[in-house]
Amino acid sequence: MQRLVMLYALAGVDCIDVAADGAVVAAARRGLADAVRLAGYGEHRNLGLPWLMVSLNDSEDPHFRKAHFDAAHCPPDCDRPCEPICPTAAIQFQAPGQGGVTTELCYGCGRCIAVCPVSTIEAQSYLVSPEAFPVDQLNQIDAVEIHTQTGHQAQFTQLWQRLQPWRPYLKLVSISCPDHDHVVPYLKDLYRIMAPLEVPLIWQTDGRPMSGDLGRGTTHAAIRLAQKILAAGLPGYVQPAGGTNGYTVSKLLELGLINQAASGAPLREILPNGLPTTQWAGAAAKTSALGAKTISGIAYGSYGRSQVLPLLDAIDQELQPWLGAESSNQRTIGQRTPLSTDLPTNAASTPWPPLHQSALDRGLTLARQLVGQLKSDCHFLSKRYG
Ligand code: SF4
Ligand code: SF4
Repeated sequence: MQRLVMLYALAGVDCIDVAADGAVVAAARRGLADAVRLAGYGEHRNLGLPWLMVSLNDSEDPHFRKAHFDAAHCPPDCDRPCEPICPTAAIQFQAPGQGGVTTELCYGCGRCIAVCPVSTIEAQSYLVSPEAFPVDQLNQIDAVEIHTQTGHQAQFTQLWQRLQPWRPYLKLVSISCPDHDHVVPYLKDLYRIMAPLEVPLIWQTDGRPMSGDLGRGTTHAAIRLAQKILAAGLPGYVQPAGGTNGYTVSKLLELGLINQAASGAPLREILPNGLPTTQWAGAAAKTSALGAKTISGIAYGSYGRSQVLPLLDAIDQELQPWLGAESSNQRTIGQRTPLSTDLPTNAASTPWPPLHQSALDRGLTLARQLVGQLKSDCHFLSKRYG
C-alpha cells in the first residue's frame, strides 16, 4: 500500500482512494511522505501532492467484501486454481489443508470464488462505519467516496447524516454508483440529499467493478454509464471507474469525451472552489465552462494496481537506504504525517543507484504511462535524480 501510493503520487495522480481504515490511511500518508522526500515536492507542494480519499459504503457492495475459506475443507486433489488467479497473492497454502486468504491483501475481486471447483470460497461483505474511523485521523483525509446503488435513498441519507462530523475536513465528495434503468433520477435524489454541498462533487460511473485488468473490453460499461450521466447534465463532474484500463483514454478520445484543453491541468485547477448548491442550472453552467459533455478524470483501480504490483517489493528494498526506518515509522498513526523533504541522515552517504537501472524507474515508467495519458504535468523525480 505505502509503495503503491508513493509510486502513483510520483506519477502525478490527483487523488488516491483507500479504505476508510485508520491503519490504511496511516500507510497511505507514509507513502505520500515518501513521495515528498523522493521528489522534493517541498518546492512544488501546492502543485502536485494528491488528495487522500477514503471509501465508505451505504449498503452491500462488491468493493466491500473479502474472500474466505477453510483450507481444511478443500479436496486434497484440488489443483488450487484459486492461488495463481489472485492478483494480490492473498491466497497462500503452507501445507495441504493449511492456508487461506490474507484478509489485508484481499480486495474482493471475486476471481478465486469463480474458479473454485467445489464452491468453498465465500464472499463476506462488510459495512464501513464512519464512527469506526479514528476522529484524530480525520485531518489526514481530504475527500470521501460513497459507494451506493440505485434505490438506496434511505441508506444513503442515513450515512450522509453520520458523515456530518467529517464535512469540515472534506475538499471533495465522490459518489460511486453502478448503472441501472433509474440511475439518473436516483443520482438527482442524492444531490438533493447532499445539498447544500460546499465542495466539488464527482459522479464516479462504476461500470464493471474491479475488472480493468481482465481485458480491453471491460472499459466499455464505465464509458457507457459516463455518457449517460453526462447526457443527464447533473451538477458535478463525471469520471469513469470500474473496468477502466490502458484502453480507456483512447476510447474516450475516439468518442470526444475528453476536454483536451483541460486535461493537462491538475484536478484542483480544473475543479472550482465550490459548486452552487440547490441551483441545478447554475451548477450545470459552471460545469459547461469546462466542457459539459466531457469527463473530468478517470479512476483506475485493479488495472493501476496490476501494472506495478510485481515491482513493489523490489522498490521497497531498493529504497530502504533512503527511506528506511523513518518511512515505516508507525508513529504517524493519529498524526498528520509531516511532509518534509528531508531524507534520513544515512541516505546522504548512500549512493543513489542510476535511475535507469532501478525498480523504481520501471515502476514509475509504468505508472506514468497510465497517468500521463490524461495528464501532462511534469514530475520532479527526474530533476532530482537525473
Ligand atoms: S477475492 Fe480476489 S483479491 Fe480476494 S482472495 Fe479472491 S482473488 Fe484474491
Ligand atoms: S480452488 Fe477451492 S477447493 Fe481448491 S484449493 Fe482453492 S479454495 Fe480449496
